[in-house]
Amino acid sequence: MGSHRGSKTGGRDEFCSVGDCLPSYAVRISVRARRARLVMSAAGGLEIVVPQGFDTARIPKLIHDRRDWIARAAQRVEKERRRLREEPPRLPDRIVLSALGETWEVQYRSNEACSAGAVRRAVARESAGGRLTVTGDLGDAQACKEALCRWLRRKARESLGLWLAEISGRHGFEYGRVTVRLQRSRWASCSPRKAISLNARLLFLAPEIVDHVLLHELCHTVEMNHSPRFWILLESHDPEYRAHRRLLRAAGTSVPTWLDHGPSGRQV
Ligand SMILES: [Zn+2]
Repeated sequence: MGSHRGSKTGGRDEFCSVGDCLPSYAVRISVRARRARLVMSAAGGLEIVVPQGFDTARIPKLIHDRRDWIARAAQRVEKERRRLREEPPRLPDRIVLSALGETWEVQYRSNEACSAGAVRRAVARESAGGRLTVTGDLGDAQACKEALCRWLRRKARESLGLWLAEISGRHGFEYGRVTVRLQRSRWASCSPRKAISLNARLLFLAPEIVDHVLLHELCHTVEMNHSPRFWILLESHDPEYRAHRRLLRAAGTSVPTWLDHGPSGRQV
């Protein structure tokens, strides 16, 4: 037990004792958690996972008690983030889009003219026989990666929009605007105005899992929540939804590592 300097200014005071490495934390309620635990990751920062019904007023003390662990974990994560930022991305020789049943062999071709101040330092173009050619400054792996990301987003826009229209028509749903993004966090989302946003990473998943994600979002056009009514509705359209959800949870590993390597390239 340490001495308490200063006095009761609440949790913030305890935060400071953890050091500057701890900018913030997120609380996640887990139905499976038996007791509170702390998770630190490069992607999500510090997360406090608590069981349902956990008294969140206990969190500041929890953080205080674990401050040494948090400081060490924060250092480890910072090192990991720095490494990811500094290391050039590794580029793929092959891209398998399981959702579309397509395999692309990727070739890289140097183009000196491209590196001389062109707006785009690399471009990715499809050619016959399932070949994808990245032309540009091959010394700039990040630019090549961004070219691949732009291509991926284009593929996703072409295919996922039609996919959603088709499955929606078959199941009798209506929705608003569709956007396709390449993001790290969610697979998809649905706004109260029934606008559906889809992650281009869905192209790396099996077709039945993509169906499942699309049906999940389409059900949100009717039930804007995860209430029991929502799950009943989803089950009526996707009877295997429990198995699909399990597969989806494990699906992060189907996304190739080159996509997450290096700076996130949010502009892409
Ligand atoms: Zn949902």
